Amino acid sequence: MSKIKKKIKVIKIDADKCNGCRACEVVCSAFHANPKYSSNNPARSRIRLIREPLTDVYLPVYAGEYTAAECMGRDKYVIDGKEYDECGLCRASCPSRELFKEPDSGLPLKCDMCEDDPPQQKPLCVQWCLNDALTYEEREEELEEEKERPGDVEAGLESLVDKYGLQKVIDTIARMSNKN
Ligand code: SF4
Ligand code: SF4
Repeated sequence: MSKIKKKIKVIKIDADKCNGCRACEVVCSAFHANPKYSSNNPARSRIRLIREPLTDVYLPVYAGEYTAAECMGRDKYVIDGKEYDECGLCRASCPSRELFKEPDSGLPLKCDMCEDDPPQQKPLCVQWCLNDALTYEEREEELEEEKERPGDVEAGLESLVDKYGLQKVIDTIARMSNKN
């Protein structure tokens, strides 16, 4: 398999610096609102805060890939004396929780590193985090050429097919195109 150079974009998270202000959720949901900045709703954000004030847990997690099947892992991790659920550390939009799903449609949400129009130099959640809990890193890596990953529309359709079945999705799209 041939190798290609790829730019890897990462948001590094330092949970110790997060104070739970939720500015990252606000700006992410506003940037991705339609029209842009017309509303802000953390439930539509692609970064969410796992927040348990009683145990002093504030953990920002940004959305990764959609997955149709839930995993079997329900382990717990203790990091610096604080207990985290395995689910809390996971970035997937999956069937076992409501996290990273668009609240009205149930479609999966995925972080696009703020490359949406207009693309941002640095992710907005990183820019808005005044506590430096989020740091943006870019590096180039040589990787095996891989199959193109599904885009937002494909991942959304896949989740609808998983939920309602292929025929119902096809019938609905056909009905919608007849209306237009
Ligand atoms: S903006 Fe920073 S400090 Fe505030 S919740 Fe998000 S990660 Fe935590
Ligand atoms: S990088 Fe952009 S899209 Fe991703 S979580 Fe941060 S604000 Fe949201």
